Amino acid sequence: MPGIREEPSDAERFVDVVIDAPARQLDRPFTYRVPPELATRVETGSMVLVPLQKRLQVGYVLCFRTRPELPSIKDVQAVVDEPPAFDDSMLELCTWIAERYLCTLSQALRLVIPPGRARKVVEVVEPLVDVREALDALPELSGRKKEILRALSRSGGPLTIPELREALGGRLASAPLKELEEEGIVVRRYVVPKPKASRIRIRVAEITAAGKGALAGEESAHLTHARRHLLQVLLEHGGRMRLADLQRASRTSSSVVRGCVESGWVRLDVEERLRDPFAERSFPDVPRHTLDPHQEEALRRIVAALEDGGGVFLLQGVTGSGKTEVYLHAIEHALGMGRTAMVLVPEIALTPQMVQRFKGRLGEEVAVLHSRLGLGERYDQWRGIKEGRYRVVIGARSALFAPLRHLGLIVIDEEHETTYKEGSPPRYHAREVARKRAELSGAVLVLGSATPSLESHHDMRNGRCAPLVLPSRVDGRPLPGMELVDMREFNAQGERAILSPRLLNSLAQLHRSGEQAILFLNRRGFASFLQCRGCGHIFRCRDCSVSLCYHARGPYLLCHHCNWALRPPFVCPQCGNRVHRYAGVGTERVEEELRKLLPVLKCLRMDADTTSRKNAHWDILEAFRRGDAQVLLGTQMIAKGLDIPSVTLVGVINADTSLAFPDFRAGERTYQLLTQVSGRAGRGDLPGKVIVQTYCPEHYAIQAALRSDPESFYSQELQFRREAMYPPFCRLANLVVSSPLEEHARCAAEALSEDLRSRVPHGRGVVLGPAPAPLSRLKGRYRYHLTLKILHPRGLEEELRAGIRAFEGWRSSFCRREGIAPEDLSLAVDVDPVTLL
Ligand code: ADP
Ligand code: ZN
Repeated sequence: MPGIREEPSDAERFVDVVIDAPARQLDRPFTYRVPPELATRVETGSMVLVPLQKRLQVGYVLCFRTRPELPSIKDVQAVVDEPPAFDDSMLELCTWIAERYLCTLSQALRLVIPPGRARKVVEVVEPLVDVREALDALPELSGRKKEILRALSRSGGPLTIPELREALGGRLASAPLKELEEEGIVVRRYVVPKPKASRIRIRVAEITAAGKGALAGEESAHLTHARRHLLQVLLEHGGRMRLADLQRASRTSSSVVRGCVESGWVRLDVEERLRDPFAERSFPDVPRHTLDPHQEEALRRIVAALEDGGGVFLLQGVTGSGKTEVYLHAIEHALGMGRTAMVLVPEIALTPQMVQRFKGRLGEEVAVLHSRLGLGERYDQWRGIKEGRYRVVIGARSALFAPLRHLGLIVIDEEHETTYKEGSPPRYHAREVARKRAELSGAVLVLGSATPSLESHHDMRNGRCAPLVLPSRVDGRPLPGMELVDMREFNAQGERAILSPRLLNSLAQLHRSGEQAILFLNRRGFASFLQCRGCGHIFRCRDCSVSLCYHARGPYLLCHHCNWALRPPFVCPQCGNRVHRYAGVGTERVEEELRKLLPVLKCLRMDADTTSRKNAHWDILEAFRRGDAQVLLGTQMIAKGLDIPSVTLVGVINADTSLAFPDFRAGERTYQLLTQVSGRAGRGDLPGKVIVQTYCPEHYAIQAALRSDPESFYSQELQFRREAMYPPFCRLANLVVSSPLEEHARCAAEALSEDLRSRVPHGRGVVLGPAPAPLSRLKGRYRYHLTLKILHPRGLEEELRAGIRAFEGWRSSFCRREGIAPEDLSLAVDVDPVTLL
């Protein structure tokens, strides 16, 4: 009888499952029984279907457990996906992430689930009868029921509830649907949609021995011209090929194929094809260099730690000092020990060169993971890693969650980069997660940088990581000389010059010398705002508290936060004046200026606007390497990773763009950027030169970069951080409350701050705010923020977690009282933020 189970036996198994839903109320394990028919298929990490609160949900098995003391326990309904999405060690990592970054476990697990496989149960309405017949046979049906049936008839299959609502023009009443259900005309079911990424299976044709015999003439009587031709083509292609290719190459119909199969000459087969994003590219061997004594020493210590069960290192070396070479040698050692390795690079540094260097040296075993791959490609790389076909992974931030087994080495190159921090929940920092993952697998973590983050610098001073130093460039090539140009000198003339005579002169010489230059400006578009000359009106975003950037190609005004765009009006909407001022120079403007002043030079521009197409950034860089242009102009995308010998000049159009940023890391950012950018010059035999244009040449960050004096920078910056009480002398958590109504956001932020102040024990933390966030309005929502300074090494995760839960309770009653939807009042929690915008 349904509903009644047999007596529990010893063999009964129970599992704890976490539901894949963002709601914090569901952020705890639920226990289910594993029915005998699923016993062999349920494992830790299995994606399963379970009943919860009268519906079905997708969840993940966390562990097996003993029978709990509960009156009734429901069954796991099905296994949704195989193999399991994660193992015990990845689960432990995710548990840590959820605790540290105050997200739910299911949010953290989303990081490790294979690309394109995560799914949510959807409810569909499905007809049980022929809808058209029912419409004819039941003329007495009410109009609303008929509408539902017509919508189902139009779709020709089941519809999800939102789809049905949309088909009905937004109106879907529950009563008629319920009646249709009771009358047995439709049924509501829960279904799990197909995954977004799957294996590709292709049909292949293979010639048999009999087929070869037939061609050789033994059975030629049966061989029509078409069949002979097909067999010949197949044999020419090695005897086995994709069926579709065979038909195309031989121009034969499927009946010819069928005939050959029936005669036993051809065998059809199904084969799995791995999508390889690099199938089209070849990777020439990259020579191994004999390490110099400093590299040798760094490698020796890394290898010793590998053998010793782990360790954390900070590898400091200017660009071109041979860090990557050390990584490659260390990876070879790890592989030799039967371990695996991963290398994280900032997304923008995943240049063709970088991939070529790793693939060229380490060969087929290197998987590449980054966000520009298609979902299917990512899924195949993931599976290849899981199945052990790849033993080295190179990729951006998220590659950290690649399912490598026996992990021995994690490298984070350019560890100071802010792109290692994830911007949406869970807002983890790859550096810290890598530390944890290394610890869990007994692996070595190597953080590499020419300009370490203040955090890592501080960790090194405190013994949380060991320093490794590469003091000079390989082959003793000198660092490029850096010159400052004080742009205030050009201010007097009213309209500010964009390119100083010194930079222009150096650029002009490129034409004769055949050398190349990189120009850097961290701002895309033509102008950062458009201002009316009559009344001073500035065009602002409708939904964000920022000005709109002017893009000359269009032309259009664009919000760089929400992408709202509009055609620039001819007249000012406030005063009717027709003349506008273009203020704040962007890359497009520099490009135009160059074309005007130095028309003989060819310039390639690389920024978010020119690289939206897949592979566009590869193509631009390759064109520049080939020498198609003398100048590469771009945003931070070109600041690092490029190693092009004929680049002898680097120009920084405006060093102050990052300095003016309203953030405590502005000095650090500026120092790092200038040092990194200048590392692009003089990588070959020719000496390099760097020209930096600035309006504040005295700033210590700029001065330290100018003199290549890291010690003076770190000591001044640390002093500032200590006095102002900022990381690394405390940790931060930024809490942003947002709402379409300013009053709601402010009110909620005040309630939250009052509650948190009562929870944070004296001396362990300080709550600052609430105050309007620097970006006070974004995508139509007002934003208020609180900043929590965490002073105690033990952290405040527990207090914060409790505070967030209390806030959720407060929020539901507030939303009920005000009659607003819960999503109209939201809280974003950012632990260890890289910016407080
Ligand atoms: P980084 O990663 O610090 O920028 P790289 O490892 O890319 O430095 O090295 C810079 C250049 O020097 C590369 O072209 C590399 O091939 C070369 N190189 C590195 N180590 C050696 C070595 N020991 N001997 C000769 N050339 C080397
Ligand atoms: Zn906007």
